[in-house]
Amino acid sequence: MKLLTFRQGGIEMVGMLASDEKHVIPVQEAGLGYKTMQELIENITEDEKKALSACTCEGIALDSVEKMAPIPQPRQDVICLGINYMAHAEEGARYHNEAFGGERPFPIYFSKRVNEAVADGGIIEAHRDIEERLDYESELVVVIGKDAKNVPHDEAYDYIFGYTIMNDVSARILQTRHKQWYFGKGLDGFTPMGPWIVTRDEFRDPPGLGVRSYVNGELRQNSTTDLLIFDIPYVIAELSRGMTLKAGTLIAMGTPAGVGMGFDPPRFLNPGDEVVCEIEGIGRLTNTIGE
Ligand code: MG
Repeated sequence: MKLLTFRQGGIEMVGMLASDEKHVIPVQEAGLGYKTMQELIENITEDEKKALSACTCEGIALDSVEKMAPIPQPRQDVICLGINYMAHAEEGARYHNEAFGGERPFPIYFSKRVNEAVADGGIIEAHRDIEERLDYESELVVVIGKDAKNVPHDEAYDYIFGYTIMNDVSARILQTRHKQWYFGKGLDGFTPMGPWIVTRDEFRDPPGLGVRSYVNGELRQNSTTDLLIFDIPYVIAELSRGMTLKAGTLIAMGTPAGVGMGFDPPRFLNPGDEVVCEIEGIGRLTNTIGE
C-alpha cells in the first residue's frame, strides 16, 4: 500500500494511491478518520489497513491535488546515517579526508533538522548567499511504526511501518567547515521526501532495493541497499538501546557512491538542475534547484 499526504482545498489529507497510480483515495473513503500521516501511523489497526486496501473508490485525480511530503513536519529531526556504503566512504575520503576518511567500526549518526519537508515536484532552495557546493544524496528512509525501545535484532522489522525516499541535500562547504554536519544538512528546503510511504508488507526483509539518482537525466548513483555497511536491524537494535524511537521516527540509511563531491572534478548542483532520487519498489522523487 502506498500512502501519501496531500492538500485539497487548503486542507491536509492522507490517502492511498489507487492501483492506476493516477488517483488518490482519501482514507476517509474507507471510514478512517485520520487527518495526518503521523496520526495514521500511530493508530492504524490491521483491520483498518485491510479495509483501506480493499477500498475500490475511484478517488481524486492525483494531478488535481497539491502533493506534500508524506510526513511534512516530522515531530523530531530525521536520524541519518553517514558513510554507510563502502564506495561512498572511498569517494568522500578522496574529496575531504579529514571530514570523511578514517576507520569506522561503528555507524555515524547525525541529525537533520526539518522545518518542512519538500514534496515531490518541489523546489530545493539553493542558499547561494552562504553555499556554493550543493550536493544530492539519494537515500532509503525507514519509517518507524510503533514506539521502539530495546528492540532485539531479530525483531527489528516488526517496528517498521514502511519506507520512503529522501534526498539528503548537503551543503559541502558548511558540512566540512563546521566539522559537525548539523548546519550543512539542515538548511530550509534540504529535505525533499516522498512521493509516498510504501508499507513494509510490500517488501521482503531485508528489502534489497536499487538506489539511484539522476541529475538532468544523467545517471549519477546506482547501487542497492544490499550494500549497506550497517543494516536496518543493526541500526534499530543499536539506537533503541537507551533511546526510544517514537512512532513516526524517520531513519535515513545513508547514500551510495556517485554524489557530486565524488567526481573529479566535483559536480555540484546549480540553479535549475533537476534531481531525481529513485528507489526500486517505492518510486521517484523529483525536485528542481531554485535560484
Ligand atoms: Mg546522507
